[in-house]
Amino acid sequence: MAMRISAADCVFCGACEMECPNEAIAQGEDAFEVDSDRCTECVGRFDEPQCRLVCPADAIAPDPRRVETFAALKEKAAKLAAA
Ligand code: SF4
Ligand code: SF4
Repeated sequence: MAMRISAADCVFCGACEMECPNEAIAQGEDAFEVDSDRCTECVGRFDEPQCRLVCPADAIAPDPRRVETFAALKEKAAKLAAA
């Protein structure tokens, strides 16, 4: 499941962008945004989503519209690593 950033809660600090191993986070208009095609929940790199760990505003949560199995996340991580 890709992460989603709540625009209402994001304080625009940029910490999540720096921690993401997949360059899946970028600055948007009103908040930072997650590219769901690049978010692997950090599978293959870390035990838990690094963006959530560093967010000072608790603005990041799994996106229920992007449910993915662990196997699918691993495959996505492998494709990103090979690109
Ligand atoms: S969960 Fe990991 S891969 Fe996904 S946006 Fe956060 S830091 Fe990046
Ligand atoms: S770490 Fe949290 S508050 Fe900071 S830019 Fe990312 S989502 Fe927004």
